[in-house]
Amino acid sequence: MKRRTFIKSTALGVGAAVISNPLLIKAAAGQTNINNEFPIAIASANGIRAVDKAVEMMNDGSDAIDAVIKGVNIIEADPDDMSVGYGGLPNEEGVVELDSCCMHGPTHNAGAVASLRNIKHPSQVAKLVMQRTDHVLLAGEGALRFAKAHGFKEEDLLTDKAREVWLYWKESLSNKDNWFTPGEEEKIPEEIRKHFGITGTITCLGIDKQGNISGVTTTSGLAFKIPGRVGDSPIIGAGLYVDNEVGACGSTGRGEENLKNLTCFLIVEFMRQGMTPTEACMAGVKRVVLNTKIKSLIDEKGKINYNVSYYALNKKGEFGAASIYGPHEYSININGKGELKKADFLYENKN
Ligand code: ASP
Repeated sequence: MKRRTFIKSTALGVGAAVISNPLLIKAAAGQTNINNEFPIAIASANGIRAVDKAVEMMNDGSDAIDAVIKGVNIIEADPDDMSVGYGGLPNEEGVVELDSCCMHGPTHNAGAVASLRNIKHPSQVAKLVMQRTDHVLLAGEGALRFAKAHGFKEEDLLTDKAREVWLYWKESLSNKDNWFTPGEEEKIPEEIRKHFGITGTITCLGIDKQGNISGVTTTSGLAFKIPGRVGDSPIIGAGLYVDNEVGACGSTGRGEENLKNLTCFLIVEFMRQGMTPTEACMAGVKRVVLNTKIKSLIDEKGKINYNVSYYALNKKGEFGAASIYGPHEYSININGKGELKKADFLYENKN
């Protein structure tokens, strides 16, 4: 198979799958927490177990920062989530590189790690950067040494399944190299193929009983990225932002576009100006779409060929989420059991 054919048929595929009507589609009205019940945790769709853990801990008196980090640790350790931590899809050389950041509302402090290898829980290292250094972001070798100084053990994060997906990807890249392409695309097992072009992340935000807000974002980043590529997830303002007086926002999806718009910061500012979390997330989505001018991000029909999603909550305990493409869900737990709710979206993905 020719390389171009392969990329076209696997990368997201959303361009071809969307309806052409550019009108705003609303999947759900803005969600409000009318009873003002606390604690609350909101996360991306892969974060049901994270929000449950976070709310349980906040109910037991934990600071929201500890609660949300313990929540996402469950997903970081899960080999079946191939977008985060252990079992995450690797870079183009087959090495898993993780990004994470956290932000603590009451102190307006933050910590982050980027391109961290061999450490299963980058979010815990991000928290230590925040609490035990005068810095905000440590990257690569320095981040690894810092983690080891704090007793983290190096381990191989590449599971057999992630290695297999990577190998198929690598073998399919070109007919001009010495790796044989593994037959026609149709012959690639569905179990493997479904992971091509898919990325992911978990973001989790929490507001405790005192109304203090914290958040965390953690990811293995873009699958098959160039080694050293840093996405939005460890960048304060892009992958996460918290203002204890206003609210918090976390993001998943194409990091490069978040980096160019600092969208989480923008969404918190929109909430400061009076928008609800859902309205602010949708305004963030629209800003990203408006600023998409690079041809490689727009298909033949003029549609955006990537997705980004935002999740937000405010000081009143209102929450919401929005994406460019939907249907799309998010996890929410309001002082009880976590559930999935529908997020708003701009365009319908027919898949
Ligand atoms: N935001 C992540 C990154 O760009 C990937 C994702 O959430 O899909 O690294």
